Amino acid sequence: MTTEGKVVKPDFGSARKHFIFTEEHDRLRESIAAFVERELAPHAEEWEETTFPDWVFRRMGELGFLGLSYPEEYGGQGGDYPCNLVLAEEITRSNSGGLATGIAVHTDMATPPIFMFGTEEQRQEYLAPAIRGEKISCLGITEPDAGSDVAGIKTRAVRDSASGGFVINGSKTYITNGNRADFIVLLTKTDSEKGYDGFTLFLVPMDTPGVVREKQLEKLGMHASDTALLAFQDVRVPAESILGEEGKGFYHIMWELQGERLIGAAGCVAAAQRCFDRTLQYALERNAFGRQIGKFQVIRHKFAEMATKIETARQLTYTTAWRFQNGEYPVREISMAKLHASRIAVEVADECIQIHGGAGYMKEYGIERVWRDLRLNRIGAGTDEIMLDVIGRSYGL
Ligand SMILES: Cc1cc2nc3c(=O)[nH]c(=O)nc-3n(C[C@H](O)[C@H](O)[C@H](O)COP(=O)(O)OP(=O)(O)OC[C@H]3O[C@@H](n4cnc5c(N)ncnc54)[C@H](O)[C@@H]3O)c2cc1C
Repeated sequence: MTTEGKVVKPDFGSARKHFIFTEEHDRLRESIAAFVERELAPHAEEWEETTFPDWVFRRMGELGFLGLSYPEEYGGQGGDYPCNLVLAEEITRSNSGGLATGIAVHTDMATPPIFMFGTEEQRQEYLAPAIRGEKISCLGITEPDAGSDVAGIKTRAVRDSASGGFVINGSKTYITNGNRADFIVLLTKTDSEKGYDGFTLFLVPMDTPGVVREKQLEKLGMHASDTALLAFQDVRVPAESILGEEGKGFYHIMWELQGERLIGAAGCVAAAQRCFDRTLQYALERNAFGRQIGKFQVIRHKFAEMATKIETARQLTYTTAWRFQNGEYPVREISMAKLHASRIAVEVADECIQIHGGAGYMKEYGIERVWRDLRLNRIGAGTDEIMLDVIGRSYGL
């Protein structure tokens, strides 16, 4: 609130940040934004055709952006969870949803279970080089016959009594970074008699004999990311490659999914905001019937609706992240944030296409790509329907 004399005026232009962010986060935000705009954004169009190159990981590793909240002993920056939100938000300046996804899978999906459940050896062998950007990671949960129904996966890891290790057979699909990854965090079934206690996570180098990168999959959006169909044919791994506890892989992966969903929500809010900002600019420049299109009440209300949706998703995401950072495990609210942010982001992108008119449908304006890229978020990391089910069940239904 500002005052001029006794007149209190609304603070529309206030740049106040949310309470979860400090001045240190502001500085981090500035440096990530400068890097993304200078070194990544100029390639956005080219990478839609080729997928983004591996050097992005090495460069971001050099700059310390791949381990913002990991401890310094593994090469991380020792920051807090909001640092990860800052990265998820600022990387949207690349104008490449595919790039943002490839990086987020590495920083907030595949590596957190190594830090959380890994042995010291595993942290040194996989986490530290991943933070440096020298090893690229991917996460394998989904299979051709089981996505939402994680417990329905068929990839089996069978103990080999002769070696004491395991033999893995099965397949994984839609795996982000799967074609380029150096290792995979792999969910397998180790005991089909034990229900949720029959799953185990493994850390598997992708050059292990029997790991086959079968196909680069083509998709609606996220063209800059690499998405693979993988096969595991008699892949032999030692018992030391178990990540976490044998038989507890299902619970480990459910924990992982919470961070994945929260970071996805933050990315959605930021992408929606950027799309809104670009469209606002367009609405002030484009004229029809002798006036700026933004001055039509219908269009003005579209902006009001969009801004309200973005703000509600932002507040829910930040407040939930604050609880997560403070050691709580707010699964219901994480599911709400993921559901709401994904939905509103797609709605905002769709409305932004509408406000752009024909230009919104043209590739050169980049708005259609935002819509195509964001559409994934209502499916990946748990569909809208699964989020609704998690929320509904949390009330004992
Ligand atoms: C581009 C992309 C990248 C991805 N990256 C990865 C990755 O890196 N690693 C990984 O493991 N996975 C990845 N995924 C997979 C993603 O997480 C799954 O696609 C998602 O979980 C949905 O699973 P599914 O595709 O098998 O759909 P299904 O589970 O077959 O669902 C089909 C439909 O049925 C609905 N449905 C299913 N069960 C229920 C239920 N109980 N109640 C109501 N409705 C239900 C779903 O909501 C959906 O609408 C990626 C997917 C895409 C598209």
